[in-house]
Amino acid sequence: MKAVRLHGVQDLRVEEIAAPVAPGPEEVLVRVSMAGICGSDLHNFRTGAWISRAPSVAGHEFTGTVGAAGVGVSHVAAGDRVIVDSRVTCGSCRNCRAGLAQVCETMGFVGEAIDGGFAEAVLLPAENVIAAPPGVPDRHLALAEPLAVALHALDRLGVPDGAPLVVAGCGPIGGLVALLAARRGHGVHVIDRQAARAELVAGATGAAVAALDALPDARFAMDATGAPGVIRALAQGLLPGGAVGLVGIGHGALDLDPVLLVEKEMALVGCHAFGDELQRIGAVIAELGTALDPLIDAEIALDEVPAAYERHLAGEVAGLKTLIRCGS
Ligand SMILES: [Zn+2]
Ligand SMILES: [Zn+2]
Repeated sequence: MKAVRLHGVQDLRVEEIAAPVAPGPEEVLVRVSMAGICGSDLHNFRTGAWISRAPSVAGHEFTGTVGAAGVGVSHVAAGDRVIVDSRVTCGSCRNCRAGLAQVCETMGFVGEAIDGGFAEAVLLPAENVIAAPPGVPDRHLALAEPLAVALHALDRLGVPDGAPLVVAGCGPIGGLVALLAARRGHGVHVIDRQAARAELVAGATGAAVAALDALPDARFAMDATGAPGVIRALAQGLLPGGAVGLVGIGHGALDLDPVLLVEKEMALVGCHAFGDELQRIGAVIAELGTALDPLIDAEIALDEVPAAYERHLAGEVAGLKTLIRCGS
């Protein structure tokens, strides 16, 4: 079967590999229909930050149909459409036992710790698949995982009803946070260094476009850039009494006087992956429906994935989420 594997830093290859045959106990074989390219896929390709085994079939955002279910699997069966839980967790560390699997001590992700979904088929632990809601197209189901990340971040930030929210960074997560927040009735203001992306997200969500050096009157912001300079500007520019959510993966140290946080009674809230939000995301996807479509950039074939990585990293992609048709 065809698969896209990461062999090392900046070494992504489209290859013909042996297809998985039969699932073992507590495993399922998923025939992948559609997958999404995530910013963290690009980060891992560029830096190798999370390469724990190589080569590894990349991709943690995908949907498909169960081809076969192993012994002991009862919650899904062959023929069921599923969405995928990207987290590979131990289930037994003190964080997992406390219900905080998203900060598992040995946290890994599908596509890195085990083979992922940029392939025609993949074997997954049965606990990593959830039955998909009926009647939802593949291109929307492929957004389940980033939507769960966005929902988790928004819930952790705890923006009061009706309060305005600034979203910095109009990539897929920022765009989905803006969409969910707008649906909840928050006045949303979006910021991106690429004016066209900010306009795209504003148009898709009803948000207003703002600027980092002229923030609107707001007490809450979500940073989806991970850029220390952006986080500092948000902390400095927001009104007191709120919080900045941190959901972006960037690099560099944050140069921020803690007195600012004290005097402004401001919190920085880290938001990693998701908890039980993926279990709830089916209903959210069904309700959002075609509102998700403007956030989808293109649908490409597996062969085109390496070139798409290059385009994303070169900043040549105008849209947000590139989807991959994986079925043969
Ligand atoms: Zn992702
Ligand atoms: Zn754990």
